[in-house]
Amino acid sequence: MVEDARITAVHENLKRIQAEIDESIDRYPHPEMSLAGQKRTVQVMAVTKTVDPVLVNEAITGGVDLLGENRVQEYLEKRDSYLPETPVHFIGKLQRNKVKYLMNERISMIQSVDSLHLAEEIQRQAEKSGRNMDILLEVNIGGEPSKSGVAIENIEDMLYSLSKFSRIHVKGLMTIPPQEQVENFFCKMHQFFIDIRGKNIDNINMCILSMGMSADYTLAIKHGANLVRIGSALFGIRN
Ligand SMILES: *Cc1c(COP(=O)(O)O)cnc(C)c1O
Repeated sequence: MVEDARITAVHENLKRIQAEIDESIDRYPHPEMSLAGQKRTVQVMAVTKTVDPVLVNEAITGGVDLLGENRVQEYLEKRDSYLPETPVHFIGKLQRNKVKYLMNERISMIQSVDSLHLAEEIQRQAEKSGRNMDILLEVNIGGEPSKSGVAIENIEDMLYSLSKFSRIHVKGLMTIPPQEQVENFFCKMHQFFIDIRGKNIDNINMCILSMGMSADYTLAIKHGANLVRIGSALFGIRN
C-alpha cells in the first residue's frame, strides 16, 4: 500500500524540482546547448529503482519526461504496471546477456554503454528485432577505477567505431562524477562534450548531456546538462 502522503509528496517534489530547473535555465542559458534562437530545455528523468510503480505513475501524471531503469529484472517485473507513453531509458550497469530484454519498444535509449563489446551486442540484438537503438556513452569523467564508464581519452576512437554500427545511434554522453569536487567535473564534462561534438563525426549526433542527480541537478544544469536523472529527491530516500 502506498499512503496518500507519499503520493502528495511526489507531486510537491516534482513541482519544486521543476521550478528549480526553470530557475537554473534562466540563470545559465547556455545557448550552445539549444537549437538556434530557442531557450534550452532540460529533460527530467524519474529514476525508478526500488520505487513502487504506483508512485512512478504519479511522477508520470505529474509530467516527468522519462523513466530511468537500473536493473533489467526489476524493469521486467514493473513495466506492465507503468502508465503508457513516457519513454524508458536504461541507465544501469548492463551485462551483455541481458541486452536482449531491452529490445521492446518502450525502451528508447540505453544511456550506460561503457564498452564496444556491449555496443556490439546491442547492434546484434537490435538487428534481430528489426529496430534501431539510441545510446549514450557513459564517461568515467573522474577516472575512478571503481566506476564504470569509458575513459575520456578513449571516447573519440570509440565514437569512430560506433559510427559504423547501422542500428546504433549515439545521441550524447552520460556521466556520474566523483562526489568530491563535483562542480569541477561537471565543468570538465561540458567542455569535453562541446569539444567532441565539434569533431562532427559521421552518424554521431551529440545532443544529450546527461548528468546531475538528486544532490546536484541544479549544479549540473549550471554546467550545461540537458537531461537530469532524479530518484530520491522525487520519491524519497530509498530503503
Ligand atoms: C540511482 C541513480 C540516479 C538517481 O540517484 P538519486 O541520487 O536518488 O537521484 C541517477 N543516475 C543513476 C545512473 C542512478 O543509478
